[in-house]
Amino acid sequence: MRKRLILLALGVALAFAVVFATGSLRTGEQERGRLPLHVPNDIECAESHRLAEEMGLTLQPGWIYLCPSGATDWDGGDHEGITCPYRDCPAGDGPYIAANPGRVENQSHLNAVVLHESVHMLRFTGALEGDPFDECSVDREAARRGANPAYLNYCPS
Ligand SMILES: [Zn+2]
Repeated sequence: MRKRLILLALGVALAFAVVFATGSLRTGEQERGRLPLHVPNDIECAESHRLAEEMGLTLQPGWIYLCPSGATDWDGGDHEGITCPYRDCPAGDGPYIAANPGRVENQSHLNAVVLHESVHMLRFTGALEGDPFDECSVDREAARRGANPAYLNYCPS
């Protein structure tokens, strides 16, 4: 009887610990990045993620999709989006792609950012051929996969 009570108490403690850890993880991911996010409520991270997956730019095993998120580089500069292929990244544990809806104009713009970062990701993992650091060709691939060229900045047209 006493053993059962102890086991029950352990079970309850474990359940609380798991809930707490899960909650803090979610909050932690949303609070990563340094600038406050002013996310227009008609711009949805999930929609951009869905589009990327539909266009064959699947989130790679072990990678994290951080959105909404600050997209901060190592120097503290903030971007529309960023890809960090390492374990140790500016916003914490990587690898991840991060997108900041607070810095875009509309859904089409966020889609372009997420498609662009997703191409970086697939090139880093080798799932897609091409130089992961070549911004212009990353933009071209993103455009082939549905990104609005008006929001791609790296290739002079
Ligand atoms: Zn890029």
